[in-house]
Amino acid sequence: MNLDGLRREVHYANIMLPRCALVTMHSGNASGYDPEAGRVLIKPSGFDYEQLQPEHLVEVTIDGKILTADLKPSVDLPHHLYIYRHRPDTRGIIHTHSPYATSFAALGRPIPVCLTAIADEFGGDIPCAPYVDNEGDHIGEAVVAAMGKSPAVLLGQHGVFAFGDSPRAALKAAVMVEDVARTVHLAMLMGEPGRLPPEEVGKWFSRYHERYGQRR
Ligand SMILES: [Zn+2]
Repeated sequence: MNLDGLRREVHYANIMLPRCALVTMHSGNASGYDPEAGRVLIKPSGFDYEQLQPEHLVEVTIDGKILTADLKPSVDLPHHLYIYRHRPDTRGIIHTHSPYATSFAALGRPIPVCLTAIADEFGGDIPCAPYVDNEGDHIGEAVVAAMGKSPAVLLGQHGVFAFGDSPRAALKAAVMVEDVARTVHLAMLMGEPGRLPPEEVGKWFSRYHERYGQRR
């Protein structure tokens, strides 16, 4: 994917955030990374999703030099850059405060792997990193330390970071974490959900990642 293609994908991921009910007002952002160009594209700070066009995305170098003159990047840019630099498999990142997933973050609790959908997509518990402030690289460090193989991490007392090998894959993880969080939240109103045993989690994860869908 070239930088123009990435721009279209990052725009799509951003405008889908309110459509998927993952954000309120301006409270989330999506970015994408083109390692060949050494560029990251990210939502401008405080910008209305409804007004957002692909040309509004702010272009920065992977070292954080801002190349777009007239718009400021999301204040979460340093966290996105840290994750791209330390997890080179990542090409798309989404940050939200989506409510059901963030309710687990408010408790500092991972989302337990009690559903096949969690085993499929996340391969285990969806981890919850401890609370950190937003100075320097604190958030990036906490998220990277918690990531493992899960495409989403909760950040204690804060919200959700979701990742993928494209902005669209990160969007899927952001949607899925909220969807399973809602189901588990509902289950917890009636009792304590049972965990899937590790060997069952492994079976669902490998089936989903090796055989599901239209890949050949
Ligand atoms: Zn936030």
